[in-house]
Amino acid sequence: MAQVKITPDMEFVRELQCAGGESLKKCFQCATCSVACPVAPANNPYPRKEMVWASWGLKEKLRTDIDLWLCHNCGNCADLCPRGARPADMMSAARNMVYKDLTQPSIIGKWMSSAKGLPILFAIPAILWMLVWWIRTGFNDGQWFPRAADGRIVFGQVFYGDYTIDPIFMITFFGACFILYRGVMRLFELFKPEGKLLIIGKTKPWFMHVYDVIVEEIITHKKFSDCGEDKENRKTAHMALFYSFVVLAFVTAVVAAGHWGGKVIPAIKLETPMPLIFPVKILANIGMLMLLFGLAALTLRRMKLNPKYQASSFYDWYLLGIIWAVAVTGMLSQCFRLMDAIKPAFVVYYFHLVFVWMLFAYLPWSKLGHFVYRTAALVYVRMYGRS
Ligand code: SF4
Ligand code: SF4
Repeated sequence: MAQVKITPDMEFVRELQCAGGESLKKCFQCATCSVACPVAPANNPYPRKEMVWASWGLKEKLRTDIDLWLCHNCGNCADLCPRGARPADMMSAARNMVYKDLTQPSIIGKWMSSAKGLPILFAIPAILWMLVWWIRTGFNDGQWFPRAADGRIVFGQVFYGDYTIDPIFMITFFGACFILYRGVMRLFELFKPEGKLLIIGKTKPWFMHVYDVIVEEIITHKKFSDCGEDKENRKTAHMALFYSFVVLAFVTAVVAAGHWGGKVIPAIKLETPMPLIFPVKILANIGMLMLLFGLAALTLRRMKLNPKYQASSFYDWYLLGIIWAVAVTGMLSQCFRLMDAIKPAFVVYYFHLVFVWMLFAYLPWSKLGHFVYRTAALVYVRMYGRS
């Protein structure tokens, strides 16, 4: 009989345990989790096989496993595991480790993996926006808290859109998109070891699969429903957060079009700050309320998790924390501006810019990157099937 030599990577096992899969050694491979998973396919289901690979230290098996990305982290498997091995957390920890390598430069992924990296992650945009503020004082007669000519508080007086906010965020956003694109290409390379994939007949062009995934899975969050009715609150919270991002992205696009397009077509020019009853402003505030609702629901859910079955990692808290920081500073800066409290308004707005930059610039290394990698994996599975 042919023998297969297994070389366990014990360092990888230790890293995986530190990253959130600390209970994986409790697994006695009963397969209850694979039966309990509502979204795993009948053919070679997950997450039992991943638990075996993890406890044996088979790093390459896990790195090239497309199923890691198909798991929706619902926790059904962990609820039913008789050993408290927390398979959902192990899947999540393994994903975090894989995409730490996928996304370059990996030093940022290292900083993002624990609270120890937070000071440097914060310091980078804090220095950047402080430099902008300092340089702009030169254009405002040395004033750090200048008023517009008509006496109003206008944030653009310091953080001037055309030369600071717009170019900095454009470079940040497209830079993050490029890094994610490179990461997705690397992920596809990982999925391609010889004989792993079964290509099923003729398939549609890739963009049609992207369209199908967006329409059938992302817009409806259908897989969350497949995870069972008791997980419906999680689906509602995720959808509120997702659609709040859609609304706020739409508002940003309208404001940018009004600002830049208005230079060419004066009829579509949009002045900021907008009055509270202006439709675009109303939409922005609706988006903000949806964001707060989704955030509160997800934060409560995380706080209520029973650590015996599922725990929250730094990645989970980082993402929730940074979105909270963006939302709270966004609302507070608006309130201070309306109250005509100029110093708090500018200081809070400065922190708002720091947190928004952190959200976008570190997106490829954060848990939000899962969204992109999972979507890519779902498209890949639809194109090529899975062995
Ligand atoms: S993780 Fe739990 S349910 Fe899954 S195989 Fe191991 S012991 Fe069984
Ligand atoms: S967390 Fe949910 S989707 Fe992921 S393996 Fe467990 S049951 Fe399946």
